[in-house]
Amino acid sequence: MKRLPFISALLISTFLFACAGSNVVTNGENGTHPSEDAILWQQTSAEYKALCYQAFNAAKIRIEMIESGQSDMAVTDNMAVIMDLDETVLDNSPYAVKMMREGKRYSEESWTEWVNKKEAELVPGAQDFITFLYEKGINVIFISNRDVSLIKPTIQNLAKYGIEAGPDNLFLKASNTKEERRNKLTSYSIAMLIGDNLADLDALFEEKLDLKQRDKLVNTEFSDEFGRRLIILPNPLYGDWMDALERTARKREDQLNLLKSY
Ligand SMILES: [Mg+2]
Repeated sequence: MKRLPFISALLISTFLFACAGSNVVTNGENGTHPSEDAILWQQTSAEYKALCYQAFNAAKIRIEMIESGQSDMAVTDNMAVIMDLDETVLDNSPYAVKMMREGKRYSEESWTEWVNKKEAELVPGAQDFITFLYEKGINVIFISNRDVSLIKPTIQNLAKYGIEAGPDNLFLKASNTKEERRNKLTSYSIAMLIGDNLADLDALFEEKLDLKQRDKLVNTEFSDEFGRRLIILPNPLYGDWMDALERTARKREDQLNLLKSY
């Protein structure tokens, strides 16, 4: 989970402001923190679930179009789908809630404790989609920025839901980027990439970009690919979007000045 430090910071400021009777977006010491509404939205809104189903339904359509010869790819035995894990397959929002309630920051220790519990449930639609791929004999490859030391509980957590992960299809973070791990998959024909962070989908987003640079890539180079080769899931809790915002405007007042009004 790449951006958990942001969760912790958000949780602390959220906790403090919740105590003060406010749930507005707050200005914490790391700059950008969404309100507790982000956590509430992810865990309680039907819209969050609907967006996840929508993403996986689009992914299924992509596979069906490949199978029926209506896409840019041919069906091959080595066809594979690359999926991120956190907030793409595994739902870690209970960890975020616990940190919020305890007023704690993210720490490697608490994150490891959560992962070792193996209690993460699945993102809506993920299991059905993975089963769909299994039934078609399509390879499922997981590339996650969970630390490689967490491989055993990660495998066991996925296994609770019948999701097969092991040395051949699970690539956690050692010292290499996601792109470096993707580049080793030369024996596969990659049908699509699925994640909740744009860096899950293309190396260009692994650069330290500001808001305008990210927008430009999304609006031009990649706009036609979403819902097709690239599938993005909602994650209001953390992600590179927060780094980009902070990179663009460090102070909260400057960030708020970026907003459009009338
Ligand atoms: Mg993720």
